[in-house]
Amino acid sequence: METMPINGKFELISSVDYEYGYTSISKRAMELHHKKHLATYVNNLNTLIAGTEWEGRSLEYIVKRAPEGPILNNAGQVLNHNMFFGNLLNSDFQVDQPYSIFVDEGRMKNIIVNNFYPEDKVLLNENIKKYKVEKGEIYYEIKHYNIIERETFWESTFLNRFIDAGFTLFGSGWLWLSLDGQRKFVITQEPNASNPLRHGLHPLLTIDMWEHAYYLDYQNQREEYLYKILGSINWHVVYRRYCEVMDNHDKCVHRPLTVPSAIKVND
Ligand code: MN
Repeated sequence: METMPINGKFELISSVDYEYGYTSISKRAMELHHKKHLATYVNNLNTLIAGTEWEGRSLEYIVKRAPEGPILNNAGQVLNHNMFFGNLLNSDFQVDQPYSIFVDEGRMKNIIVNNFYPEDKVLLNENIKKYKVEKGEIYYEIKHYNIIERETFWESTFLNRFIDAGFTLFGSGWLWLSLDGQRKFVITQEPNASNPLRHGLHPLLTIDMWEHAYYLDYQNQREEYLYKILGSINWHVVYRRYCEVMDNHDKCVHRPLTVPSAIKVND
C-alpha cells in the first residue's frame, strides 16, 4: 500500500502509542523520536517537494526514484520511520489481540526459519507434527511459537545473523529484512536514509540503527538494543507485509482463531 500525501502534504503518523509504552524503549525516547526526529523529517520533506515534480507523488515513489540529496534523505527517513514504528509491538496491541499476534508470530518465524536454513526444515516439521498430534491443532496454533526446537532454530538461523548485521552496520543507517524478486529473504544494511525499495527489494521489517534511536536508553550498547528490540517486534505486521508481497495470498489469509475457553495461553 502506497503512502499518499493529503492535500499535498505528508502527515506525521499517529500510530506511535507511547502512552502505553514499548517493552524495549522508554516513553521519553519514543516521544522524542516521534515528535522531534520524525516530525522534522516530515516537515522538511513537505517544504522540499512543494512545487517540484515530486509533489503529489507517493512516498514510496519518491524513495524509489529520487536522486541522492535532501529530498531522498527526508523521504527515506519518513518512510523508514513509518515502517519501523509500524513493526514495533506496544503493550496496548498485546493486550487487545493476543491470539492473532502470537499465531502470526509463529507463522512468520516458521516461514523465515525454513527459508534461512532449509536443511532443518524436515526436523522442524517432524517436531511440529508430533506436537500437533500430542496437543491438538488449535493448541498448536497458539503455542507453537514457543516450541523449544523452533526457537533454537530461530536463534541459530535468523536472529544471530540479523543482530550481527545490525551490530556491524557502520555509522547511521537501517537494518532490514526484505524479500527479493524471487521471493527469498535477504538481510541488508542500508546507510543513512536508504531503503531496500531502491534495490528492487520488498521491505518487511526494519530496525532504526541511528544513534538517536537507542542512545537515551542504551547509550553505546548497540547489541543490547538489538536483542531487546527484536523481542518486541509486531510479527503480525511483518506477516501482513509478507502476504502483500507474496503472489499466493491464500497461504497468508489472516484467520482469527476461535479459542476454546478450556485453553489458557499462559499454561
Ligand atoms: Mn530514527
